[in-house]
Amino acid sequence: MSDAPVALVTGGATGIGAACARRLASEGFRIALHYRSSEEKAQKLLAELKSGFGVRADLADSDQIDAAIKQIKEEAGGVDVLVNNAGYNVNAPMLTMKLGEYDAVAGLARGTWYLSKLILRRFMFRKGTGRIINISSVVGHTGNPGQIPYTMAKAGLDAFTKSLAQELAGREILVNSVAPGFIDTEMTEALPEEVKAAILARIPQGRMGRAEEVADVVAFLATRASYVNGTVLHVNGGMYGG
Ligand code: NAP
Repeated sequence: MSDAPVALVTGGATGIGAACARRLASEGFRIALHYRSSEEKAQKLLAELKSGFGVRADLADSDQIDAAIKQIKEEAGGVDVLVNNAGYNVNAPMLTMKLGEYDAVAGLARGTWYLSKLILRRFMFRKGTGRIINISSVVGHTGNPGQIPYTMAKAGLDAFTKSLAQELAGREILVNSVAPGFIDTEMTEALPEEVKAAILARIPQGRMGRAEEVADVVAFLATRASYVNGTVLHVNGGMYGG
């Protein structure tokens, strides 16, 4: 087993997660690259990183999380940094959104809580140090029409960050959120052109962010930050300051 610190990045095969995986690997981490359906992208990225391993799980399914934890323990022994990046959104107004669509978003939020609990209990408490970085969203603060379950989940994730940081008081385990604004990934590519134009009009820097610009902040929290705890760092080109 290698001596390199291990970073588990959920949803690490695509978009912001892939940028975090690349950046943390360049900082010396061995990457536990979690994915659900993007197997091919995960394998391609792992080949590019030349180290690390893939972990498949639907995070809405607690049995699959249990299996993933077992695999990580066998392959890496422990986890030093957990980046809760996986996210899921359904775009529909309140009146037409289906209960199952709400459940899909809420199920991932539940899984993020459960995964974090197992990582904390099995890995981080043994060492007494660690970092949890939750990728939330500006819309958890500002609200966004057509995204009620998603905005609820992201606001909840930031509350999770603050509460867990307080629960872990006295330990060297730091918990923070990074809240991206609008970042150029497959998630935002799916938005209609008129929605994208309306978003751009709200960004003082006049452009969408790049996944690497989010990964840069994640890398800071994972490595150099030592007195930043229980907070939300906004990465959004000036559209919202908290
Ligand atoms: P993305 O490429 O669509 O990434 C979403 C990731 O979440 C995928 O890798 C997907 O894995 C994973 N995922 C979704 N549902 C899952 C489930 N049930 N179980 C396990 N994994 C699941 O989008 P992104 O833009 O990079 O988003 C990354 C994070 O940033 C998300 O939390 C998102 O909410 C947040 N964010 C994005 C933006 C933005 O503008 N792009 C803004 C604010 C916040 P598979 O592909 O393997 O299924």
